[in-house]
Amino acid sequence: MDKEKQIYEGKAKKVYSTSDPDCCIVSYKDDATAFDGVKKGTIAGKGQVNNQMSNMLMQLLESEGIPTHFISEQNPRETLVRKVSIIPLEVIIRNVSAGSFAKNYGVDEGIVFDEPTIEFSYKSDELHDPLINEYHAVALKLASKEEIDTIKDLAFRINDILKDFMKKINVDLIDIKLEFGRTSDGTIILADEISPDTCRFWDSTTHEKLDKDRFRRDLGGVEDAYQEMMRRINDQQN
Ligand code: UDP
Repeated sequence: MDKEKQIYEGKAKKVYSTSDPDCCIVSYKDDATAFDGVKKGTIAGKGQVNNQMSNMLMQLLESEGIPTHFISEQNPRETLVRKVSIIPLEVIIRNVSAGSFAKNYGVDEGIVFDEPTIEFSYKSDELHDPLINEYHAVALKLASKEEIDTIKDLAFRINDILKDFMKKINVDLIDIKLEFGRTSDGTIILADEISPDTCRFWDSTTHEKLDKDRFRRDLGGVEDAYQEMMRRINDQQN
């Protein structure tokens, strides 16, 4: 299927319509932003890594019964996906303290939780993605109570599957941000991407960061970290 019209451009991706109203094509860019868009840059090869990694992981999730937007990879940077209306919630699951959790609650990074945590941010550039709870999300009519229950169930299952998979490639899944959408018949499916932009990945042995924190925190070796994650996932899948 071919791209028709660009219908959306975000910080890291463009979305195009196709001749099928239930499908669109996502095109991944090398552009990177952090801190609410204040820090901007480019990570060479990121678009291809994020596209291909996300596709591999979504196929793994599909094989475990998780519905996702993935249909088929068109080329190294572009993927045909099911069209959804995105539920404006960032669903964050954490296995280990890091990032805003460590900062907000005054704890070190690297504390392993007994149980994963879940939190929601309201996706709104204007409001700077504020944290909200599920009652607020229902009050704001972002999703119904039933939809929130489905999202929570899917999010924890996705985290379990990916955590187990990452363990096999000597990577700890520290945290992950997920987005869900509704198809035209109202089914909730996983959308967006799963990549070093949206997860924290630490090498299990050295605790080296293999994700976007290398860009956020100017740690160097950004491109290498993305490539290393892709290499490990490819090796495990082949
Ligand atoms: N995250 C994301 N998009 C955002 C905010 C966070 O993909 O707009 C991811 C981030 O990469 C990390 C997880 O969500 O894997 C938790 O991020 P956190 O709340 O700690 O925020 P940050 O430290 O990135 O500000």
